[in-house]
Amino acid sequence: MNRRIRYLFTGIVQGVGFRPFIYRCAAELGLGGFVQNRTDGVGAEVEGSIEAIDAFIQRVKSTLPPMAQLVRVDVQEIDPEGSTDFHIIASDPAGERQTRISPDIATCADCLRELFDPDDRRHAYPFINCTNCGPRLTIIFDIPYDRVNTSMKEFPLCDACRKEYEDPLNRRFHAEPNACPVCGPKLKLLGPDGREEPCTDPLEHAVSLLKEGNILAIKGLGGFHLAVDATQDRALRRLRDRKFREEKPLAIMVKDIDSARRLAEISNEEESLLLSPERPIVLLKKRANGMISHLVAPGMATLGIMLPYTPLHHILLSKGFSALVMTSANQKDEPICIRNDEAIIRLGGIADYFLVHDREILVRCDDSIAIARSNGPYLFRRSRGYAPKPLDLEYSCEDVLALGPQIKGSICIIRDSQAFLSPHIGDLETPQAQDFLLETISLMERISQCSPEIIACDMHPGYYTSQVARDMNTRTVVAVQHHHAHIVSCMAENNLTGKVIGLAMDGTGYGDDAQVWGGEFLLADEESYSRMGHIGYFLLPGGEQAIHEPWRTALSLLREAYGDAYLEYANRLGIIPETASPEMLDSLFRKRINSPWTSSLGRVFDGVASLLGLRGTVSFEGQAAMELESIADVQNRRVLPYRIDQDLVIDLSDMIRSIVEDHVNGIPREQSAGAFHATIADALGSVAELIRETSGVNRVVLSGGCFQNRILLQTCLDILNLKGFETHTHGLVPVNDGGVSLGQAVVAGIRAVRSRP
Ligand code: ZN
Ligand code: ZN
Ligand code: FE
Repeated sequence: MNRRIRYLFTGIVQGVGFRPFIYRCAAELGLGGFVQNRTDGVGAEVEGSIEAIDAFIQRVKSTLPPMAQLVRVDVQEIDPEGSTDFHIIASDPAGERQTRISPDIATCADCLRELFDPDDRRHAYPFINCTNCGPRLTIIFDIPYDRVNTSMKEFPLCDACRKEYEDPLNRRFHAEPNACPVCGPKLKLLGPDGREEPCTDPLEHAVSLLKEGNILAIKGLGGFHLAVDATQDRALRRLRDRKFREEKPLAIMVKDIDSARRLAEISNEEESLLLSPERPIVLLKKRANGMISHLVAPGMATLGIMLPYTPLHHILLSKGFSALVMTSANQKDEPICIRNDEAIIRLGGIADYFLVHDREILVRCDDSIAIARSNGPYLFRRSRGYAPKPLDLEYSCEDVLALGPQIKGSICIIRDSQAFLSPHIGDLETPQAQDFLLETISLMERISQCSPEIIACDMHPGYYTSQVARDMNTRTVVAVQHHHAHIVSCMAENNLTGKVIGLAMDGTGYGDDAQVWGGEFLLADEESYSRMGHIGYFLLPGGEQAIHEPWRTALSLLREAYGDAYLEYANRLGIIPETASPEMLDSLFRKRINSPWTSSLGRVFDGVASLLGLRGTVSFEGQAAMELESIADVQNRRVLPYRIDQDLVIDLSDMIRSIVEDHVNGIPREQSAGAFHATIADALGSVAELIRETSGVNRVVLSGGCFQNRILLQTCLDILNLKGFETHTHGLVPVNDGGVSLGQAVVAGIRAVRSRP
């Protein structure tokens, strides 16, 4: 007796070769029926013996296409219709719009083989792709994901491509960006004025220009890169000068894993992250071999490396470069360029030439940045390759749009307990960046098909995101404390509910008392929190300015440690710049002009780096702290003295005195830096233990930008695990402010659900 089963598959099932896969599974088992795209997923009806149907669903679940992600399978038995053949039929526009948009996917092995096969019709074609790889999010303007809703609609398929597109057994069956040299996008090389350069082969010409030391703006997947040959000091100097980016590390792209290994030490986890279809920039331990310019990442122990992820990159890197700098193409604090005309205007003063093409990028998507930990990637920036894959929350949560904080931002929409984090937006300091925020809100509302009534934002009244929230005053606005949002973002990622001890170790966040928080111990759940303890307040002389001038923080730490004698020590250490007058210091400390109190651990790192003579000013936020991590001798685990008072406030004065005395006595600063990391980790562990004693809570959640510091993260985890805590850390949600929007969304959504009558 034949049976007929109706299935609805939901998750990432479109744009990943799911229908041909279902077709093959069913046809091979001799089943009848059909499969089709629906706006809420992929539907199938399958008819045959019960054994064959069982085998079918087993096979589907166990051999999914590489990029597919199955979230749910709805099953319903219906009356047999006597079907014996299996078909792929036209899309059914019915159903709710719930289909997930796939992130962009690095070029697959099959396409690469064709790309470098001289006999293939797509040999050296820089836009080759298939259902297992290629652009996705970055070319869509609406769902469902069909060619007419992408920037590929400008390119009618030629006969050969159409045949592939319509053949259910072909790897390019319904590969929406399918293209070839006959019908698809083409490269062009433009000069500085935007005029087309006369040349027969734009790519070959671009290669020789790079080799001559020129700066090229190269249109990629989610935006333009600025590229130079990473071995040429002069080219790097020009790029840095023109981009006003003095020292901030630049990412490089290398041909393959062996080339990466020549420049950095690579573990198994790091290798698989580098090779993953998401292809993030992976931060790796630099080898000191001088094979690339020292200007790539001056002063850093790490190097950001990525492997090619588009066919264009693969061809470029096959032309004999040991490494190319590939940095996001933008002016300082502006979002990455995506349009050709935009690039020519905005990058005019930076790039010498432009390697462009005519496939429009519709969604800005920077490269993602990650480190590899033993349990998987740990993201510093979640963007291309990861966005907009949603997170499934295992609890019910009202629909929310969360706007994130001010820097390193992203936004988040929760719809039906699925959290969609946007691509990286960046710092909202320029009008262009602020427009990008609005652009991203509209994008995310479109692809999640949801325009939530609840808006979540940071408590800081001066953030641009808070202003945008206030402007949406027809909706309900919920302000969420920054560090609570950090902790809840990590809880959400780990599917935790209920009370946790939250260690939010961070740069800057607006506190309940209007001071600058950043070294917080919260007893928190997904709805509320109490501040159980924090790093002892010190003045932040000059406010924001202290972020760029760590000597100010150093001075403040000295003042906490030595009282009025602080100037004497500051002079002995030589940390006060000549431009700072005694009157100025007096107005900062005594009159407290523009000098809030802070408990920021990020600033403590900056201040200690400055005390140790690493640097008094920085050219990008966190530089001093990163250098302190870079030089730290991890063998030195000496815990320096510190005190915890009865309110669980950590007083670091003893530690500061001991660091200063060691430094004056000639103890190498590598040792002091090591001891400093050990001391902070010890203090965090001790306070967590004290909170456990009174609360009985044994779960600790680590979040906030300071946990980008690998030594701090690992030392803290070691200590906490030794003390018997259950520890939780980030992974796919950024540990820094890039994850804050998720926490904001969950807090606001949960509060709304629970306040429902
Ligand atoms: Zn492919
Ligand atoms: Zn074609
Ligand atoms: Fe933060």
